[in-house]
Amino acid sequence: MTIHRPTYANAKATLETEITALRRRVARAHRILTAGGIWPLTKGHVSARIPGSDHVLILGHIHSEGRSLIDTDVDDIVTVDLDGNWLEGRIEPVDERYLHLEIMKARPDVTSVVHAHPTYATAFGIAGVNILPVGNRGAIFAPQVPILDFDRQIDTPERGRMCRDAIGDSVALVLKNHGVAVCGDSIENATIAAFALEETAQLQWIAAQVGPVQKISTGEVRSVLTGARKEEFYSHVWGHYARLDPWFSAPDQERSNRAQVKPPA
Ligand SMILES: [Zn+2]
Repeated sequence: MTIHRPTYANAKATLETEITALRRRVARAHRILTAGGIWPLTKGHVSARIPGSDHVLILGHIHSEGRSLIDTDVDDIVTVDLDGNWLEGRIEPVDERYLHLEIMKARPDVTSVVHAHPTYATAFGIAGVNILPVGNRGAIFAPQVPILDFDRQIDTPERGRMCRDAIGDSVALVLKNHGVAVCGDSIENATIAAFALEETAQLQWIAAQVGPVQKISTGEVRSVLTGARKEEFYSHVWGHYARLDPWFSAPDQERSNRAQVKPPA
C-alpha cells in the first residue's frame, strides 16, 4: 500500500495559494472602501496578518503612482514583518504601516486594520468630541471611540505605539485632524467596522442637530456584542458591502464571500 504524505513542496505551494487568496481579499477591501467613499482623495490602506506568522500583508505605496484605490489588485499588496521591514512585493509599503503593525503586535485578536480618512468620523476628532455608541451600528464602539490628540503621519514605530496606547482594546480610534484606525478579526469584519464607524458618526452628527444625543443602553450594547447577535452584526451586512466592489461578480463571488466572513471570537 502506498502512503501519500504531504511533501515540503506541496506544503509550500498550499501556503502560497493561501497567501494569494488573502492578498486578493486585502485588495478587494481597498476597492470596496473606495467605492463606499470611506477615503476621500482615495487615500488609506488595509492590512491583514498572515495566519501563523509575524508577517503582514499591506498596501504598497501606490498613491505615489497617482493611482486610485478603486482598482487595487493583488500585486499592489506587499508583505512586511511586524517591525515594518519590506519583505516582498513590487512597490514599497505605505509609510503609515506602523499604525497597523504596532496595534497588531499588542492585540492578538486583531488580524486586520483599516486606516482611512472618512469625513464625519474625522470631523469628530477635529472637534474633540468622542463618537458614541448610537444607532443600529454603534454598539461595537461602546463606551466611546478614543481620540488621539496628534495630527502627524504615523510613519515611525514610536508614532505607531502612540496609536496602540490610545486605542487600547477598542475597535476604533480617531486621529485628530487626520483620520481613523479600525480593527477586526478578519479583513471583512475590519471593513464592515470602518463603514459602521462612519455611519455612526454621521448619525450622531445629525442627532446632535435635533437634540441631546442619547447613547444605546448598556444592556443593548451587551446584547449586540454577544453570541449570535455579534455574528449577525458582521455577517448579515457583508453581502451589501461586497457588492460595492466594481469587480464583483455574482453568484460565485457571493458564495466565496459568505465562506470568508467568520464570526468574531
Ligand atoms: Zn493617514
